[in-house]
Amino acid sequence: MLKIQKLHKSYPIGDSSLHVLKGIDLFVEKGEMVAIMGSSGSGKSTLLNIIGMLDEADEGKYILDEVPIKNLTEKKAAVYRNKFLGFIFQSFNLINYKNALENVALPLYYQGLKRKKRQEIAKFHLQKVGLLDWATHLPSELSGGQKQRVAIARALASNPKLLLADEPTGALDTTTSYDIMAFLQQLNNEGKTILIVTHEKDIAAMCKRIVRLKDGVIMEDNFVKQVKATVDV
Ligand code: ADP
Ligand code: MG
Repeated sequence: MLKIQKLHKSYPIGDSSLHVLKGIDLFVEKGEMVAIMGSSGSGKSTLLNIIGMLDEADEGKYILDEVPIKNLTEKKAAVYRNKFLGFIFQSFNLINYKNALENVALPLYYQGLKRKKRQEIAKFHLQKVGLLDWATHLPSELSGGQKQRVAIARALASNPKLLLADEPTGALDTTTSYDIMAFLQQLNNEGKTILIVTHEKDIAAMCKRIVRLKDGVIMEDNFVKQVKATVDV
């Protein structure tokens, strides 16, 4: 599903540059649930943004679902992004003046679906995350956990092959974090491939594989016994 070989990325700083990714090799099969760990500044988001086609590598190979991702036009990249990928962020990135349902329906607008169909699909996914009753509420009226659930519903709306999450529990308390992880585990059990960037050990342990980044290379890459996310009540 995802093949990365000898990937490099630098950022220019003044006259010099910062070499952030120094030859990353990563293969991910369909159905995996992978944690990408590493200390702050180790390049986790840089890697995820390249995988998510929000940014481009300087060197190396990236193949997503058999499609080589390189030198795509902005338009083509947008089409692939919308078709293949769903994103979840630490800060939810919901649109403040749109209600929960409208937020979930938005990616479907870019797919050119008719309004009625968009609403139908958005309702289905809101229900899946347990928030159908909150459809008409604005993000400001939702808790952090509820906002992240709306963001997950939005990411799922276009039925992506790969779900990418950058510190999805970083802004949530432990109970809510585990609740979100339990939901991601459920999605993974239903077959969704998921990559989660985190620097929290307990969150990484809830994945099936842990990849550790250090100084721009993968230091460790292990399949682990997945800890079930349970929510104490
Ligand atoms: P992480 O997500 O692991 O904390 P990042 O991938 O965000 O790390 O950043 C890796 C390094 O690259 C950091 O030193 C960061 O300051 C730098 N960096 C990230 N994005 C940019 C950018 N757009 N321009 C310049 N430097 C950047
Ligand atoms: Mg980051």
